[in-house]
Amino acid sequence: MNEISSKPEIGLDPVDWDDIKTLGHQIIDDMVDYLKGIGEKPVWTPVPQLVKAELSTPLPHQPENIFDVYRDFKQNIFPYHGGNIHPKYFSWVQGTGTPMGAFADLLAGVMNSNTAIGDQSALYVDKQVINWCKQLMNYPATGSGILVSGGSIANITGLIVARNTIIANAKNAGVYAAPGKLIAYCSSETHNCIGKAAEVIGIGNQQLRKIAVNDNFEIDTEALKAKIKEDKDAGFLPFCIIGNAGTVNTGAIDPLSELLQIARKEKIWFHIDGAFGALAKLAPAYRDKLKAIEEADSVAFDLHKWMYMQYEVGCVLFKDATAHKAAFATTVNYLTAHDRGLAAGPETISNYGMELSRGFKALKVWMSLKEHGADKYAAMISQNIDQAFYLGNQVSKHPELELMASVTMNVVCFRYNPGNMDDNQLNILNKELLMRMQEKGIAAPSSTLLNGNYVIRAAITNHRTRRSHLDEMINGTIAIGDTLVKTYDSRLFKFDFLIQ
Ligand SMILES: *Cc1c(COP(=O)(O)O)cnc(C)c1O
Repeated sequence: MNEISSKPEIGLDPVDWDDIKTLGHQIIDDMVDYLKGIGEKPVWTPVPQLVKAELSTPLPHQPENIFDVYRDFKQNIFPYHGGNIHPKYFSWVQGTGTPMGAFADLLAGVMNSNTAIGDQSALYVDKQVINWCKQLMNYPATGSGILVSGGSIANITGLIVARNTIIANAKNAGVYAAPGKLIAYCSSETHNCIGKAAEVIGIGNQQLRKIAVNDNFEIDTEALKAKIKEDKDAGFLPFCIIGNAGTVNTGAIDPLSELLQIARKEKIWFHIDGAFGALAKLAPAYRDKLKAIEEADSVAFDLHKWMYMQYEVGCVLFKDATAHKAAFATTVNYLTAHDRGLAAGPETISNYGMELSRGFKALKVWMSLKEHGADKYAAMISQNIDQAFYLGNQVSKHPELELMASVTMNVVCFRYNPGNMDDNQLNILNKELLMRMQEKGIAAPSSTLLNGNYVIRAAITNHRTRRSHLDEMINGTIAIGDTLVKTYDSRLFKFDFLIQ
């Protein structure tokens, strides 16, 4: 038997509760002041070498004063955020967050709810939020869903259920029990998380057919139908079509109703990756275009992107609640539900996804939706779309700028083009232009390649953006572009800044 220690017992709560209160007030003051003045600051500041060194020191063994820990955060971590809380941030597809959302995370942290099991308020909030998500999408009330960390996991969760629905004994026999080689279909513009999902669910990336797109970057449905026929003729088993509600490159929306019809005719699963674009369903102008969401077998979308909520929170909804549960439910003694007591709560959420322990991410969704109401979000999303069309117009108006894809939702792809350079030179020029715009903290769009051309890409899922911010980005682009062109030596086909 162990000897019983005579040392005084310890814990991790503060020695002085007044200290933690003082620090807490200081943190709230600092953070709220910072957010209030965010627009006056550069959109992004590169992480300095000294800070990188600070952030690679070894494991601390001795305690540090909490005020010092916070000072370290304020000095070395906070100023070098990714920029997405700033009104001129348009990179990738990232949400802004809100002050109330940050408080919700703080409150969830205090409760420290493990939103998996038990008769606790968090599970009822989680359930209510899933119902609200269904209502946002006008999805059948009989459907089910789960909150996850984001679009990637939401999409994988959707494909796991699709796979298990086609293979009767998938849970025990795996993909080996499939009566043929499983094949899924999506467009070549589909997000790479669908490829990862194909790998994870065991069908492999090769069995994910990437169908060509038209000039508007939407899936070519004739090519899709031909490929399905070819695969069936070869004895393979098509089981799922993945449609895009907003591609990451250009915001293109696949012809979802047509994809739905094809899936119904082929009797296969129809999943929609609507990571950001599904939320455009709240905008009256997009309701019809995105109507097929209401009938999809599953739809994945993020609340941390175009619902402007704090990272991380995404959602996946399923039309067939039984199929959803069948893919994940297991019976184990330690999770048995009781009639009374702590284990009397709703069914464990682990019956609907991979995770058992999970945070109380539903709280920020619940608080944010109550704070603003769904109508405000609809207006906010419509405003972002209007801003994208405004930006597209401004690009078209300037002779030095070229619109590189038609604007269909909230993504604008453009480049600086003075008119006397070939595509290769324009690629070099625009890459340098973008780096300078970001490093100077003027605005933060990102980039992509469209048909081999390097383009500056602005995705607007930002509630702090106003049109004037887009004007600043346009003016910045032209100013930097003009400067770069002056350093361009047409004889050498080189730029001074590259040979320096
Ligand atoms: C962002 C995105 C994803 C991935 O979502 P995460 O929340 O980053 O995991 C998937 N598909 C599309 C179209 C996206 O824009």
